[in-house]
Amino acid sequence: MKCLVNEDLSKYTTVRIGGTAKKMFVPENEDELLKVIEEENPKYFIGGGSNLLIDEDSFDTVVNLRNFNTQITELGDGFFSVGASVRLQKLITTINEKGFGGIEYLFSVPGLVGGAVVMNAGRGKKANKCISDYIVNVRVLENGKILELKKEECDFSYRNSRFKNGNAIVLSVLFKFPSCGKDEAEKLRKERIEHCKKVQDNSAPNFGSVFSSSSMTIMKLVKKIGIRSGGCRFSGKTVNWILNTDNGTYADASKCIRKVQRLHRLCGKKCKLEVILWEGSKNKE
Ligand SMILES: Cc1cc2nc3c(=O)[nH]c(=O)nc-3n(C[C@H](O)[C@H](O)[C@H](O)COP(=O)(O)OP(=O)(O)OC[C@H]3O[C@@H](n4cnc5c(N)ncnc54)[C@H](O)[C@@H]3O)c2cc1C
Repeated sequence: MKCLVNEDLSKYTTVRIGGTAKKMFVPENEDELLKVIEEENPKYFIGGGSNLLIDEDSFDTVVNLRNFNTQITELGDGFFSVGASVRLQKLITTINEKGFGGIEYLFSVPGLVGGAVVMNAGRGKKANKCISDYIVNVRVLENGKILELKKEECDFSYRNSRFKNGNAIVLSVLFKFPSCGKDEAEKLRKERIEHCKKVQDNSAPNFGSVFSSSSMTIMKLVKKIGIRSGGCRFSGKTVNWILNTDNGTYADASKCIRKVQRLHRLCGKKCKLEVILWEGSKNKE
């Protein structure tokens, strides 16, 4: 199994922020993944890195989940068994080719199936659509055992699942997708990309939405006044979106986040982080 030493983690996050992994293991199959978990007891796992803000500290052992299971197996009747390392775009184009669909709105999401299941990735709250809509069961490694959890056992809710506490690794997922014509699917994928070009600020590296719940009034104000710190700032185009415009750091992005959390507290409102933080030991002291 490949083990990279002193690997720059910023290369693996969409926001291009992060320190180093003293050791980064890249398992090429499930056996290698299970072996590295048993032998190294790692605490840090990275998928597509699109929902992560990583400190510029050094992390002992990181497992890169991008290669260990990239299989998509069609089982008939809209059932597909899908490895956690499969990119969402690859999953969508594959099921569309076979005449199925339902998650074309995730075509813009730069994550892997495993990360999307952990985060229960989806559309905004009003649209009420998420990847778990079509999940039948999830195969996971939890407390040293491989389990097949039914959807109802996965505690899915808005941008949340039982896997978000970091105690389980998603290995593969069984989906049942509804039928969808190829032309219709292509139209939906194109519409999603066009919509995102209009509404999402991808002018600089970012990790998508910052909070999974917050006060819209406050977030609109933040967008207007453009809260910033060092090389990071809240976007003036997209609500609830931080950009790394100029070699921003973990400290810069977290200061932006803390300012907005303080604003919520001052106004007696609540907000909940969506992005996952890997805080280094230096900051914890
Ligand atoms: C431009 C952009 C647009 C986005 N648009 C959307 C959107 O429309 N909707 C949406 O919901 N999100 C969106 N996101 C956020 C993000 O892409 C999703 O949350 C995505 O599903 C995260 O997947 P990932 O593979 O990148 O996970 P990562 O960021 O690598 O990891 C996220 C968390 O899951 C854990 N993890 C990853 N894989 C596994 C696994 N197999 N088993 C156990 N734990 C694992 C990691 O340790 C980490 O704690 C967007 C992000 C960007 C940058």
